[in-house]
Amino acid sequence: MKGKIALEEHFAIQETVDDSAGFVPADYWVELRARLLDLNDGRLREMDANGVEMMLLSLNAPAVQAIPSVPTAIEIAQRANDFLADAVAKQPSRFQGFAALPMQDPEAAIVELRRAVRDLGFRGVLVNGFSQRDGEDAILYYDLERYRPFWAEVEALDVPFYLHPRNPLRQHSTIYEGHDWLLGPTWAFGQETAVHALRLMGSGLFDAHPNLKIVLGHMGEGLPYSMWRIDHRNAWVKTPPKHHAKRKIAHYFIKNFYLTTSGNFRTQTLIDAMLEVGSDRILFSADWPFENVDHAANWFDGAAISETDRQKIGRTNSIGLFGLDDVLASGGAAKPLQDVD
Ligand code: MN
Repeated sequence: MKGKIALEEHFAIQETVDDSAGFVPADYWVELRARLLDLNDGRLREMDANGVEMMLLSLNAPAVQAIPSVPTAIEIAQRANDFLADAVAKQPSRFQGFAALPMQDPEAAIVELRRAVRDLGFRGVLVNGFSQRDGEDAILYYDLERYRPFWAEVEALDVPFYLHPRNPLRQHSTIYEGHDWLLGPTWAFGQETAVHALRLMGSGLFDAHPNLKIVLGHMGEGLPYSMWRIDHRNAWVKTPPKHHAKRKIAHYFIKNFYLTTSGNFRTQTLIDAMLEVGSDRILFSADWPFENVDHAANWFDGAAISETDRQKIGRTNSIGLFGLDDVLASGGAAKPLQDVD
């Protein structure tokens, strides 16, 4: 399929690139590092060879979220966002941007959010899980009361918020002790991010701000597969749920969330996600440079789904969600469906 739009595609600046070392063996680091720092020829070649018209770019992980000093977190977020804005300005029909935000300080996050959306023209924000902050024992999840003004601003600006994974801190990872192979994308990323998303859903956040749009990668971090059980366990026990939300958790998952295919190139998993949230809320992504664009594209282009759904997931859902029709060279129109013999 030509004209695909990919959403969970990362870059790095010199100050953050080393955060991605360790996710691949040392002899692959030279290649991964080069991929992260390249916003020109190599990346565009990958896109052209695999029918990807546009990437929405975001900073690598955990980057800003793992900088406990608030002034430094603010500075790195600004620097990354300025760098990305420059890259987007050079090729706006191929690249658009997600903002990095210093979530350690909700007020500073609001200031940078406004700057990124209004001044830099970013299409949304991408945050790498919880934040660490100097002087706080606890790590900061965004269901906390202090983040309500931030969420009000996200809703007012009407931009999607991509909740991207990071690893749990070592001191919170006793379940993984002796089993480091489970960290990162193998398992811990998904578990960490799924719980964070459930915290948002159960907190009542989406009752207060019903128009928030949250994006999850990796086909929903396992949540589609578990959503029914979350709301229906022990159904014979007629007591109200213990969370603070007014409705069932699935209500918010279907209404406020969008899922991408990043790093999870499996038709069986896609079908399950489609059965839970519908093809209008699923969007193509690769997770470059941690995954290959050709692995994502070859799988997606041949996946056994309808051509109508392929166009939605591969392209038109993203144009609608991020308002991209003004920047695509093709004008944003859906490519005509190929004739089916
Ligand atoms: Mn990613």
